[in-house]
Amino acid sequence: ETPASGQAEQQPPLLSAVDPSASSSTTTSPPPLAPIRTERHPSSSSTASSFDSTCVTSPLTPGGAPGAPFRSPGAAGFGATGGGAAGVGGSGATSHDLSEELLAAGWRKFWSKRENRPYYFNKLTNQSLWEPPTAALPGVKRTLSDPAAAVPNHHHQHHQQGPSAPKRPSFDAAWNFSVHSNCVTLERPPRRLFQPHPETELLRAQLIAKLRQHYSELCVSRENIQPPPDSFNRWLIERYLSDKGSDPLFPSDCDNELSYALFREIINDLPVRLCRPKLSADAKKQLYRYAEASKAMIESRVANPESRKIVKWNVEQTYQFLRQAKMPTYEDCLERLAHLKRTCQPHIEEAAKESVEKICTKLYHLSVEYAKKVRELQETLFKVTNPTDPWADLPPWSGDPKRRVRCYPVQICSPAPRPAAQQQLVETGCTDRMQFVRYGRDNSSQQGICRSVFAKLQQLYTLHCTEEDPSMEKFFPRLWCMLTRYQAFLGQQSQNTQAALPIPVFEAISRLFGVTFELFASPLNCYFKQYCSAFPDTDCYFGSRGPVLDFYPLEGSFEANPPFSEELMVAMVNHMENLLKEATGPLSFMVFLPDWRDPPTEALVRLEASPYNRRQTCVLPFEHSYRNGMQHCLERDEDLYVKSAHGTLIVFLQNDAGFMKWTPTSEKIKDLLIAFGQQSSHRRPQPQ
Ligand code: SAH
Repeated sequence: ETPASGQAEQQPPLLSAVDPSASSSTTTSPPPLAPIRTERHPSSSSTASSFDSTCVTSPLTPGGAPGAPFRSPGAAGFGATGGGAAGVGGSGATSHDLSEELLAAGWRKFWSKRENRPYYFNKLTNQSLWEPPTAALPGVKRTLSDPAAAVPNHHHQHHQQGPSAPKRPSFDAAWNFSVHSNCVTLERPPRRLFQPHPETELLRAQLIAKLRQHYSELCVSRENIQPPPDSFNRWLIERYLSDKGSDPLFPSDCDNELSYALFREIINDLPVRLCRPKLSADAKKQLYRYAEASKAMIESRVANPESRKIVKWNVEQTYQFLRQAKMPTYEDCLERLAHLKRTCQPHIEEAAKESVEKICTKLYHLSVEYAKKVRELQETLFKVTNPTDPWADLPPWSGDPKRRVRCYPVQICSPAPRPAAQQQLVETGCTDRMQFVRYGRDNSSQQGICRSVFAKLQQLYTLHCTEEDPSMEKFFPRLWCMLTRYQAFLGQQSQNTQAALPIPVFEAISRLFGVTFELFASPLNCYFKQYCSAFPDTDCYFGSRGPVLDFYPLEGSFEANPPFSEELMVAMVNHMENLLKEATGPLSFMVFLPDWRDPPTEALVRLEASPYNRRQTCVLPFEHSYRNGMQHCLERDEDLYVKSAHGTLIVFLQNDAGFMKWTPTSEKIKDLLIAFGQQSSHRRPQPQ
């Protein structure tokens, strides 16, 4: 019996970069994954230390008291509370005669009653071993101020039994890395990307905050409105679709400098933003505000006389309607508002067009400028001698682009960064709920994540980088860069582009439809260890296969819950249909989309009409929830699930072999809806 038969059994590939499932009669293993990144300066032994150096010691925040309760966010809704006794507290525990370094890395020694011998358990990664662990995670040393506080109760109960204890879910069941990929792709060369570097990431974060601020000021000064919620994020997502520039965050080389997606969003909020009124008094107020603002706008802008006449006449009619003696009903007000908007909007749009276009193009030009600034810093940091082609000296790729392989994370080839300066240190610290990682002396650079998510990211990193970074020296700098990238991308509050399916739904789709892969994810919200994400350079160390539209699976079963960007959703449908046409084996996509029908979005229409649509079903509004888009840094478990105000349409796009293998039968659909917390489906007619 090996220690792996206990808890470690759930995470078999912990120390392997290649999935054990990779052996298949039709596929070969991925190309040598060991040296994941090809350095341009292989002789530069400074590569590792250049980012990172080690973490310094002082905790940033005081640690939790010993035995303080620990609640992982994933435990919400599952009723798990913790009374985290330290590892020494249980009857099966022994004294922890381990080095301080190993203790700080999460290792504890316990006594197996059944085996009558000691074993070792890592409370941060859920690994268990019979032999004493050898390598600790550098940088954690003396930074976890009270390791004991992190042990959740339920874990404590089961690991007393020793490594051969029956299978249990890991300490937060919000992910399942024991599901191996069934996705086959062609071998891909390493991507020509710069490795993430704390200094460039810091500059990006500062510049994107500036860009957001500029955007907000432009909306206020030009149109007298606040930016439409999440419009900046949707702008980024839409821009990435055509961007060929070198910066992963700032769009800088798009087909068209004017984003129609952003243009539409701003225009739609002019002259004022309307929201669905609750009572007739609200409806009346909105009608009045809209009429006033339309009149003011058409008078103050350059507009043709005919447009002016139409708007003013309609506004006058509205005033008369509002002045009438009888109080108008809620429905009357809504109808009037819809009518006013329909008649005035084209003229408002015409009058505001030039000014709104200027907001969009100004935003883009600033983004191009900021991308250039980041690039200049990158060239300095990475000692690039040939700025036009930093990859000029790269040896040719020795892979075979026709070889079928089990999917594997993006590999990066990049010039080597210069050695670390003292201020490049990354500091860490924690409370009993949060883990903090900070770069340099600047408090504003501090990133905080829930400790359960921190443990998840450690697992992902171990799974994918053990061979390339066995001592995990680069873990903290890479973690900090990834967290900073997402914070820059999401801004302060935005979570609407990150909402995730509930965990029971992931469990169900994996069990019922063989899903092993998320096509839209981040290291922070992924459920599987294989997934696509927006930022290959920061996310590849945590398992990302890169952006979905650059990913070409030949077979496998996938889940797609895209961010709500219409352009990306349409591009996704096109991509899926092309992949289904080219597939060499069973291929299946389960797509989850908002059931927006007023009017239906183009992606929704295309999905419903797709020749590959085998079945569709719908979950009703307010009868299901999504996981909060900020699940990785929530302060309270209570905020983990958010009720969905829209219905969710689920469509199965499958080729014949995919349909045969993962047939969406009525029975399975029923199970799926139960996982969503819904008993019966709201069916739409099946496509012909
Ligand atoms: N993985 C979860 C959450 C999805 S939220 C689920 O499947 O339910 C949508 C995710 O898609 C976000 O994390 C967003 O950052 C990511 N995303 C955005 N653009 C992407 C792209 N081009 N390719 C892959 N993922 C992308």
